[in-house]
Amino acid sequence: MVRVCIHRGTKEIGGTCVEVESQGKRIVLDVGLPLDVVDPAAMPLHAVPGFDKPDPSLLGVVISHPHQDHYGLAYRLPEETTFLIGQAAQSILEAADVFTTAGLRLKHVIHLKDRCALRLGPFRITPYLVDHSAYDSYAVLVEAEGKRLFYSGDFRAHGRKARLIERLIASPPRNVDVVLMEGTTLGRPESHDGFPTENDLVPQFVQLFEQTDGLVLVWASGQNIDRLVTLYKACRQARRQLILDPYTLHIMRATGNERIPHEGWSSVRVFAPLSQRIRIKRGGDFHLINPLRPYRIFPEQLPGVAKRSVMLFRPSMIRDLDRIAGLKIGRLICSVWRGYLGDKRNRRLLDWLKRHDIPLAYCHTSGHANRDVLKRLCACFPGARVIPIHTERPDAYAELHGAIWQVNDGEFWRV
Ligand SMILES: [Zn+2]
Repeated sequence: MVRVCIHRGTKEIGGTCVEVESQGKRIVLDVGLPLDVVDPAAMPLHAVPGFDKPDPSLLGVVISHPHQDHYGLAYRLPEETTFLIGQAAQSILEAADVFTTAGLRLKHVIHLKDRCALRLGPFRITPYLVDHSAYDSYAVLVEAEGKRLFYSGDFRAHGRKARLIERLIASPPRNVDVVLMEGTTLGRPESHDGFPTENDLVPQFVQLFEQTDGLVLVWASGQNIDRLVTLYKACRQARRQLILDPYTLHIMRATGNERIPHEGWSSVRVFAPLSQRIRIKRGGDFHLINPLRPYRIFPEQLPGVAKRSVMLFRPSMIRDLDRIAGLKIGRLICSVWRGYLGDKRNRRLLDWLKRHDIPLAYCHTSGHANRDVLKRLCACFPGARVIPIHTERPDAYAELHGAIWQVNDGEFWRV
């Protein structure tokens, strides 16, 4: 008998954790941090044997992709735990560990590779590389005792790897019994209309750059590699240089992908915010900054190049910018989820923009599939039950598939 328990995620976005059991052995799919948790260290772990102390029946924990709502509690698991994660995703989390508290170092790792099945006790696990706003993201097929469960992870079909979803839809796994399908965007009006593609954002950024006199700041995640490529392309077209920080460049290198912009590429420059310089100094990680020296823009140089530059920004950089005399900031473009602007932790940012009379623009697209793509993927599994996960609107799944099955957090059910 194959049993499954979604410990978290049946009615919320984030904090996903799914336990799959067969013949007394178990694997876990994601061990995420819920979005609203302020103190991860204080959050009780899910009731999964092997989470609080080693348990040989827990064979492995799959991390579908390097977003905190899918891996954020992994650091609390025993160090003996075996993790299954993409190689680049692991490198990105290790790179983030140097600069942030949200990084992760794992001891025992099996790497997920696109469509390369692996065995773990009674389980056969096949990862499918997908398009998402996190680099190296996977959906996984889990097989045991002749049953087949497909977990979508997080995905979209309007990013730079959209063809991966088209390939999945063209040749999906067959005879799947149960699908755990993400539905982050369901219930949002834009999900119905469809989202702009990453490439659609390029001319939007170019236009905003061209309409700006002075430095353009773009608030985007240093781990949203698709967006950084979009920014690079837009900068090339608008003939502005892109100024990145050591943390972001470290993440970009961690992808191991030579085609992703990095220092040494024409029009990529480096600005090192104080907080990162302190981190590097404290950790003695000078190898992360010394090779960047030929490409660095120092604070006193920034006013002189502001007009022909775009700088990747995060709210913690306000104090760096405030210290630079004579710097003309022409615009801030918010290129993250709009909800962050309403977050009271970013109140200071809005006050700062107001105080300095800096106009705010918005240019972003979702990391998650729209309704039609969800529907097309659901149609690949005509004989399966589809279970809502990573959604606030399980009720909205009825239009996706004929056999929707809602379950609750914490209850075990049979595949
Ligand atoms: Zn995600």
